[in-house]
Amino acid sequence: MFRKIIALSLMTGFVGSLGAAPASASLEEFAKRAAKFNAVVTLPQFEVTTNQVRDTLRQTIAGGNAGLDKVGALKPAQVTFENTVGALDDVGYQISLTADRLSLIKETSTNAAIREAATDAIKELEEWMVGLDYREDVYKAVKAYADRKPKLAGEEAKLLFETMRDYRRAGLDLPKPQRDEVERMRKQLASLATDFESNVTKAQKAVKFTKAELEGVPESFLEQFKTGTDEYTVMANVTFQYLAVEDNAAREETRKKLLIEHDNLARADNIPLLEKILPLRDDIAKKLGYKTWADYQTEVKMVKNAATAIEFVQKLKTGLQPKFDAEIAEFRKLKVKQTGDAKAQINIWDWRYFSNELKKEKYTVDAEQLRVYFPYQKALEGMFDIYQSIFGLKFEKLDPPYKWIGDLQLYGVSDADTGEPMGLFYLDMFPREGKYNHFAQFGIIGGKQIAGGKYQRPTVALICNFPSPTKDKPSLLAHSDVETLFHEFGHAMHSILTRAKFSRFAGSSVPRDFVEAPSQMLENWVWDKKVLDSFAADYRDPSKKIPAEILAKLKEARLAVEGTRYRRQLSFGSVDLTLHTQIHDGNARDTLPLANKVLSDVFFPLAPDTAFVAYFGHLMHYDAGYYGYAWADAIAADMATVFERAPNGYFDKSAGRRLRTEIYEPGDSRDVNISIEKFLGRPRSIEPFLKKIGIEKPLADSR
Ligand SMILES: [Zn+2]
Repeated sequence: MFRKIIALSLMTGFVGSLGAAPASASLEEFAKRAAKFNAVVTLPQFEVTTNQVRDTLRQTIAGGNAGLDKVGALKPAQVTFENTVGALDDVGYQISLTADRLSLIKETSTNAAIREAATDAIKELEEWMVGLDYREDVYKAVKAYADRKPKLAGEEAKLLFETMRDYRRAGLDLPKPQRDEVERMRKQLASLATDFESNVTKAQKAVKFTKAELEGVPESFLEQFKTGTDEYTVMANVTFQYLAVEDNAAREETRKKLLIEHDNLARADNIPLLEKILPLRDDIAKKLGYKTWADYQTEVKMVKNAATAIEFVQKLKTGLQPKFDAEIAEFRKLKVKQTGDAKAQINIWDWRYFSNELKKEKYTVDAEQLRVYFPYQKALEGMFDIYQSIFGLKFEKLDPPYKWIGDLQLYGVSDADTGEPMGLFYLDMFPREGKYNHFAQFGIIGGKQIAGGKYQRPTVALICNFPSPTKDKPSLLAHSDVETLFHEFGHAMHSILTRAKFSRFAGSSVPRDFVEAPSQMLENWVWDKKVLDSFAADYRDPSKKIPAEILAKLKEARLAVEGTRYRRQLSFGSVDLTLHTQIHDGNARDTLPLANKVLSDVFFPLAPDTAFVAYFGHLMHYDAGYYGYAWADAIAADMATVFERAPNGYFDKSAGRRLRTEIYEPGDSRDVNISIEKFLGRPRSIEPFLKKIGIEKPLADSR
């Protein structure tokens, strides 16, 4: 019920109203305009000392407990929607405001002590939140309301249904002894899962090679690996080192040796743990009335049950077979040529190397040379122009009263037709010491209907790490950076444009196997020549646009190994679903052989005596969920067709408007399956995805 704290999670903040800090005129202006629309726009009041962080934590926990005490004290005759489920949404919202703000501080503060205080506070907050589901007084009050079978509709009905479902999923509707047992097992599971993850983090393996053995690996890496005269040490657990060798080492024995070490990381500790975790999950699921853990996990996702997820993975696996075979044949040709062995086969330690060779040989294209077309500011403005136009919005630069970093920017988003303010976003785009080192959208203040029928509009932040500008050059983005920008800003749109009443459903708080789909769809934009020509030009001579043949080659190169890429993904999805449907108390010792069989069946036969699953961290935080990557890709490709078939393609305003009203605005306030179909104007289809990844034959005739 109280969501775990994750980036991309939404929640909100009340916090400092604009009046509290001396706001710039334009920001005040923006807030005033919002008031005319019965909306509230707010900037968070950031904690700037470790004491403030601790005070906030204390106040949040006290406030949360007080809010729940109020619900728990209700007599059955007093319960209403507002004072039970509605109140829980309010309590969750307040907690989320703190959690989200502190998460942002943890990732962006320039002060190490504050980052550390925020990290500690979040940990404490999470531990406290675990117990909230088990407050029996609160459960009784909510149940008293549900037992009246109130006539609710729409979002209210969904909120009551899902709140009760959360309680059932936590075991609250079981008789006391079984409920206590489930709670105990969940705690045990959490602790075993933490152990598994820390074993993955801790696992290390140094593998030594001679220079000759590393033939093909670029000089720049060799310099880093050198540990003696003709001794080079590669850490199997450091991804970039592992990939540098697997992608480039010309000698098969080298690739094989390193892969075997990699696929045995954490084996001794984590296989015994998995043999405990999987049966425990199975047991919890059964106690809660589910057939399998995968059924339990998928109940709250788009797929809704394990069978649908398994069928999806199976069908796609079969559908990909011809393309996968053809790609392996290409790899094999290269290997035969290279080794002179007419019978050479492609093994699991070969595919990375030969896909790299294939790209080099067939699609000689240096993605680096595209950077000159993507100076950061132009790319940003180009994306702004497109999103403003297709979604019917206006972005205006505002002056933030408080900046955690000098080059921080703040923008207000409003509806282009009516001027209605929709929300705010910060941009913190360049790397620095101690900052979050990926690219993500962080929710800070989530959307929610608040007192007096007013609507709290969202505030979010884009935290990125684009190359910093230098003295003589602007920040020049890689094509993949531009793709990331379009993707992450899509999440910002999802958050900001929400009109869901309740915090639980606002913006991107949609099922995890859907949340990436709209943003993945928007990645298509940067592969379109027309889109790129609207903003990309050589910064030294803006009359020069991206040559069409470079873009075409990049696309071809990507498509050339899609079969291999997806079969690998599906092997992970498949092993995840298999373990979470088939392993139970009686067959726990089959975990490793079963996992290896599935992986070998869907991808390449594994190297002998390896234990890949011991190092597969997704089994802990994405359990029975890995299928979701391909699932969301399929929906993204399907959704992209709405633009591709529209008169103005990726610039089409009516398609963009439909994305806004049917996907972004409702968020999770209605079943996303319905939202997707409304956006598509037809039932979902997997065909566009198959076409995109190079499968011509429809899946129907393959089983
Ligand atoms: Zn994303």
